[in-house]
Amino acid sequence: MPRPIQAVVHLDALQHNLKIAKAAAPNAEVYAVVKANAYGHGIERVYSAFQSADGFALLDLAEAQRLRALGWQGKILLLEGIFAVDDLDVCAALDLSFSLHSQHQIAWLTQFQQINPDAKFDVYLKLNSGMNRLGFQAHEYTDIFKQVQAVGNVRSVSHMTHFSDADGERFGLDGIEHQHFIFNKTIQGLAGKTSLSNSAAILRHHQTLHCDIVRSGIMLYGSSPDYPAHSIQDWNLRPTMSLRSEIIAIQTVQAGDSIGYGSKFIATQQMRIGVVACGYADGYQRLSATGTPVLVDSVQTQVLGRVSMDMLTVDLTAVPQATVGSEVVLWGKSSQGEILSIDEVAAGSGTVGYELMCAITARVPVRIES
Ligand SMILES: *Cc1c(COP(=O)(O)O)cnc(C)c1O
Repeated sequence: MPRPIQAVVHLDALQHNLKIAKAAAPNAEVYAVVKANAYGHGIERVYSAFQSADGFALLDLAEAQRLRALGWQGKILLLEGIFAVDDLDVCAALDLSFSLHSQHQIAWLTQFQQINPDAKFDVYLKLNSGMNRLGFQAHEYTDIFKQVQAVGNVRSVSHMTHFSDADGERFGLDGIEHQHFIFNKTIQGLAGKTSLSNSAAILRHHQTLHCDIVRSGIMLYGSSPDYPAHSIQDWNLRPTMSLRSEIIAIQTVQAGDSIGYGSKFIATQQMRIGVVACGYADGYQRLSATGTPVLVDSVQTQVLGRVSMDMLTVDLTAVPQATVGSEVVLWGKSSQGEILSIDEVAAGSGTVGYELMCAITARVPVRIES
């Protein structure tokens, strides 16, 4: 028998969550963001559930290639654009759209006209409206837009920006409103489609949905973009990945006994401890120490002590019937249907659902459930 750990990808939940995104942004095209191998779920695994997306957005040419190999003939948008002039060969061959955020990229695009005079591209000019990662400043944007429009191999120029605070408390003139205002003001009078909102903006900032394309990521994967302000239940989202394992040993410890490396947990009374076949080499965070929630036989209990490479230990006080072979859900859904959202686990680890789902390692077998 293989080691009992397993990740389950729930296709019905992926489909459901995409419907929620579409219902939230009924007048926009909804692109499914599948970067980082579909947020750790696997592009090939999620593909069938996302067939009704209006497009896909990702970063890697290799991931775009995989989508084309699956048969996707619709739009694919490269969120970071090209990294070298040669990338344009692949963009032409696979018909990829891409963001343009720097003069380097514009120079490569211009240079490529000599390499392949027939290729034509749909580009997304990126406005830096306040995130200060990628994009052009508002004051230079109109000139650059005209410069890009004049490049011979450009078929269309769309406008794109990304919000830094769609999930947070900065609503007003120091937050998303400000970025949205800068965007609208900058592109005023310029032709072209617009692409604005990430998951948090789709769910929380309806004024940002008056655009042509939204880019939904994390909400499709059953994590709330603004937890703990809202849970997945509040947004009517369903978990799309369940990390499950089993208890492989049980210890009874006495008051004063310690558990695991560094003796980080010391029992104050006699208690039963379950040892679970899941550790940081599976992608479970080592920081998920004592108190991080976990389900044993669908009952919520907690991690105790330090997570080690291949194992972690859980408190069985609330689950007296638990035995070797009992199901343990690290996040997601138990086989009885009990839900432990990835956001609750992430909060116990000082991180976000995004990081947990992306961190699942190659040694964890993945099963698809429809
Ligand atoms: C990752 C990403 C998104 C999706 O963000 P979520 O918070 O996961 O919805 C949208 N736009 C850009 C540019 C991104 O990099």
